[in-house]
Amino acid sequence: MTPKTLNIEAPALDFGEHWEYAPAPEGTKVEIAARYGAFINGEFVKGHGRKRLTTVNPATEETLSEVLIANPKDIDDAVAAARAALPKWKRLKPQERAKYLFRIARRIQERARELAVLETLDNGKPIKESRDVDIPEAAKHFFYHAGWADKLDYVFPGRKARPVGVCAQIIPWNFPFLMAAWKIAPAIACGNTVVLKPAETTPLTALRLAEIFQEVGLPPGVVNIVPGDGTTGAALAAHPGCQKLAFTGSTAVGKELARVNAGTSKRLTLELGGKSPHIIFNDASLDAAVEGVVQGIFFNQGHVCCAGSRLFVQEDVLPEVQQLLRARLHNLRVGDPLDKNTDLGAINSASQLATIQHYLKLGVAEGASLQQIKTKLPKKGYWCAPTWFEGVQPAHVIAREEIFGPVLAVMSFRTPEEALTRANNTPYGLAAGIWSDKGARIFDIAAKLKAGVVWCNTYNRFDATSPFGGYKQSGFGREGGRHGLLPYLELS
Ligand code: NAP
Ligand code: MG
Repeated sequence: MTPKTLNIEAPALDFGEHWEYAPAPEGTKVEIAARYGAFINGEFVKGHGRKRLTTVNPATEETLSEVLIANPKDIDDAVAAARAALPKWKRLKPQERAKYLFRIARRIQERARELAVLETLDNGKPIKESRDVDIPEAAKHFFYHAGWADKLDYVFPGRKARPVGVCAQIIPWNFPFLMAAWKIAPAIACGNTVVLKPAETTPLTALRLAEIFQEVGLPPGVVNIVPGDGTTGAALAAHPGCQKLAFTGSTAVGKELARVNAGTSKRLTLELGGKSPHIIFNDASLDAAVEGVVQGIFFNQGHVCCAGSRLFVQEDVLPEVQQLLRARLHNLRVGDPLDKNTDLGAINSASQLATIQHYLKLGVAEGASLQQIKTKLPKKGYWCAPTWFEGVQPAHVIAREEIFGPVLAVMSFRTPEEALTRANNTPYGLAAGIWSDKGARIFDIAAKLKAGVVWCNTYNRFDATSPFGGYKQSGFGREGGRHGLLPYLELS
């Protein structure tokens, strides 16, 4: 069957008041071309690769588009374009560089309706999350980094800040547009040029961002987008023409990339997986804590590297917390991601669903008690009902390994010391959450948790001004804030 261009009507979406630039009016159609190539040197090109990937809507299994799998020759072209663009871009007056980032941010806001719908179609996430988190946060990253472009010498006093060079960037499928913004905005604000590879199952919004680059007249070659699969990623990661590699994805691939680049002068930052703990103390406001836990694990179907997937509850309030949790979970709505009232959308791919199901079976075999909300799941597409395990032991695999799905492991503790030991007993260290009414306890525990981000009486709050990243096997390097500039600068 010859693929054809799709024209999808965007649902009516209220964008609220907190926008600098109003999104285009309702009724916007979202056009998805039958085929996409790569974006190299400011142009959309067919590419040399002969193979194509099919990106589907995971809520319906319908084909959205066929996309180039960029091959090593395409990577050579993209890196050459980034290299050629570098001298002019890094010498451009910083105020001028900033203007491009401002314009990109503005166009993201103006095209927000279309971007939100496209992200939800390609990824399966609920439209209210694309509308309220992914797209606005991406715009904020460009606004925020536009502000840094002409202040780099001030922010690191007494040092001269120079760009690193050509940056290879590889991103996952859970926040396709937002991760592209997290990667591209600091890199180009600092005067670097970029070759970015989106994930295989979600290439569409990064390619739409490339349209925005054309619209704002970003000089050709400053950002190049090469879609593809793991082979594309491997070719880009190993390319000798790049001075920096920034990777967000699984710990397994991250380790492989560290091996591949060992002994080279390439700079590396890795944002990897997690198994983040939520700790509820008996003095916490339990209603608020349960709400935070639910958001912490079921946001984006649990496809979140910092998902609060291990819950530790102080023993004397465990029965009450479990009761509140059950009641709250039964109110979650699972289904059509384009419906504004949906809380959980589709699992991103058949293979991710298979991984989640493997862990569900394993949890039962280990002796934990599987609990799921009763809900009618659509016949087509990839779905998993919100799940939590009671009676979990810290030694269980479901309490140790990242599931990357809507699955919570509920455990208990007696003393704060025990909570801390259990929370830190993990090879990961990305995030953590503490729920308590005692300020002194919060400060004490937060300081002792080995996690890049510790949220107190809240969870999953993101801000471009604040650094994000991990300890241990969750990776190294930070994104966001002043710390997020460092990987993209040579300081002398
Ligand atoms: P993944 O398999 O590691 O993929 C991540 C990216 O790497 C994708 O673009 C992928 O391409 C590419 N890739 C695959 N094999 C590669 C190779 N050998 N060399 C170079 N690139 C390669 O991870 P995923 O399953 O997509 O994402 C989920 C994981 O990412 C989770 O473990 C999660 O915790 C982690 N994550 C971490 C953060 C963070 O900020 N720390 C954020 C989001 C996700 P294809 O998609 O084409 O295979
Ligand atoms: Mg898709």
